[in-house]
Amino acid sequence: MKKIQMVDLKGQYEEIKNQVNNSVFNVIDSAAFINGPEVHAFQQDLEEYLGVKHVIPCANGTDALQVAMMGLGLKPGDEVITVDFTFAATVEVIALLQFTPVLIDVDPNTFNIDIDQLKHAITSKTKAIVPVHLFGQVANMDEIMNIAKEHDLFVIEDNAQAIGASYRSKNGSKQKAGTIGHVGATSFFPSKNLGCYGDGGAVFTNDDDLAHTIRGIVNHGMYERYHHDVVGVNSRLDSIQAAVLRAKLPKLEAYNNARRSAARKYNEAFKEVEQIITPKVEQHCPSSGSSNYCNDCDCHVFHQYTLKVKDVDRDGLVKHLNENGIPCGVYYPIPLHKQKAYADKHYDEKNFEVTNTISDEVISLPMHTELDDEQIEFITAKVKEFIQN
Ligand SMILES: *Cc1c(COP(=O)(O)O)cnc(C)c1O
Repeated sequence: MKKIQMVDLKGQYEEIKNQVNNSVFNVIDSAAFINGPEVHAFQQDLEEYLGVKHVIPCANGTDALQVAMMGLGLKPGDEVITVDFTFAATVEVIALLQFTPVLIDVDPNTFNIDIDQLKHAITSKTKAIVPVHLFGQVANMDEIMNIAKEHDLFVIEDNAQAIGASYRSKNGSKQKAGTIGHVGATSFFPSKNLGCYGDGGAVFTNDDDLAHTIRGIVNHGMYERYHHDVVGVNSRLDSIQAAVLRAKLPKLEAYNNARRSAARKYNEAFKEVEQIITPKVEQHCPSSGSSNYCNDCDCHVFHQYTLKVKDVDRDGLVKHLNENGIPCGVYYPIPLHKQKAYADKHYDEKNFEVTNTISDEVISLPMHTELDDEQIEFITAKVKEFIQN
């Protein structure tokens, strides 16, 4: 059996080696390292793939969130609602820009923003909502957009974990995750579903004015050379990373299918195990029928395959897997409202019941495009061995 990895970037590279090497060496040959033709070409390819008017490449996913928020013209003290259960980057940029982060709980089945809590968290100071499409599952965008419209709020989608996922609205329309809100942000960190070989990120929007504003912000607030109209930042996707991404983008659908296929096999292996709750895929798609849950839907791209374990020593399970050469992850072990940087005396523990519970129950198994059946069988057998003994 091949050595099991959490993410197999090397194995994936072997498949596309010639193409990636050619593109990267072409960039080096051209010496157009910054804002070269590859960056523009990738931007256009991604706009076409996502069906969005504007993609603005930038240096990483955290910057993408930051410049998206800067572009919306929020003011210090404005409240921005996001989830307690996500990677810290989401709340970090809100705090950094001196907006007031308002953390709320998530749905225990989908790990995504809790719609009831969202309704209750809105005040006269609320200006924006940041749903995170966690682990690759698109949040309930129909509800979020309705609430945003009613209260005149911006929606910034944190799409770092769900690039390529589709969302079907109740009205039947289908859009790519990250292109539904006013603005979306993604990351091309190597382990993300569309990863480069370093750091990278991008912002998406259908709003021409906002796109123009953000294009200036990522380039030192310049709209005309050496005229600095607003305070900006330096946040660029470099040409070598763009060349890698351009070679990988045509494979993204196949990559996401491979992840879904691995998820199906995991689900199958765990379906009889009472203590294991496999990821729920929630969507208004034809195959979900009346249950609202479906097993094989492109609304989930399985950035992570995350189980909840009940009445199981989760940390013992992690140790057991590691001892058997199986890497695994706990995303995320500590809710953000308990982190020193983001704790706030106004938070009430009883509003974070779900996050407090699931942070002790979640375990993410190896998930990538190169997992084979033998590996999945070994992993699932070792999980069951610990739980059923
Ligand atoms: C990875 C990630 C980010 C940040 O992306 P970077 O490219 O690492 O800056 C933001 N939000 C979420 C949910 C992420 O998973």
